[in-house]
Amino acid sequence: MAQQVAEGVYFIQGQDEFIPDSHMYVIGKPDSKDLSLVDAGLMGKGDYKLGSIDSLGIDFAAIKRVIMTHTHLDHIGCLAEIREQIPWAELWVHELEARPLDSGDERIVYGMEMFKSMCMTQYNLKPGSFRFRVDRRLHGGEELELGGISWEVMHVPGHSPGSIAFYDRQRRILIPGDVVYADYAIGRFDLHGASGAQHKESLSRLGELDVDILLPGHNRIDANLPPGYIADTARQWAPYLV
Ligand SMILES: [Zn+2]
Ligand SMILES: [Zn+2]
Repeated sequence: MAQQVAEGVYFIQGQDEFIPDSHMYVIGKPDSKDLSLVDAGLMGKGDYKLGSIDSLGIDFAAIKRVIMTHTHLDHIGCLAEIREQIPWAELWVHELEARPLDSGDERIVYGMEMFKSMCMTQYNLKPGSFRFRVDRRLHGGEELELGGISWEVMHVPGHSPGSIAFYDRQRRILIPGDVVYADYAIGRFDLHGASGAQHKESLSRLGELDVDILLPGHNRIDANLPPGYIADTARQWAPYLV
């Protein structure tokens, strides 16, 4: 399923299997010819994601880059499939997850050893499947002008070390990756490189933003977020985030 959420912001719903498939967002005004894909998805979902982009009437030639909110398997699994069809697309990742990707260190991708062996068997993955050259390293604090829309990049570690969120201050839209979801849920904080204390701090920073439209990495999106929603979520989870 694919739909426009706001002008120049499109939502492509993940198709969960026994492992979740992350949502993908396409950002940028179509006439800008400067579109970005935010996250890819699970292994085997490349055709579905690209087909959904096509069904929106988006010309692949306008896609200039893939930006990862973070590099967990359910977000980066089909990146190679997507780049096979859009080989000119750059890859932008936070510096803390760019380094492992460049060097083929897959600990963050898989999150834990048990999960790694299970996935490698299930999806017939070889070691080194998630080695990518990163074209641009993000740090947080950037103000990116992407396809005619301005996005603030925030480094929000905790769920993973290089998690980033994208915030459109003018339209109060937040793309938080797996840091916070709808329905008072948050991302897990027990995987490789995760930190409950950092997660707490990131949630409280996101809680300071005015957000009407929440576009998380999984589960439902919320285009009519109650005021103070993220701050309330942060408060509810604070006792568990140490
Ligand atoms: Zn994740
Ligand atoms: Zn995820």
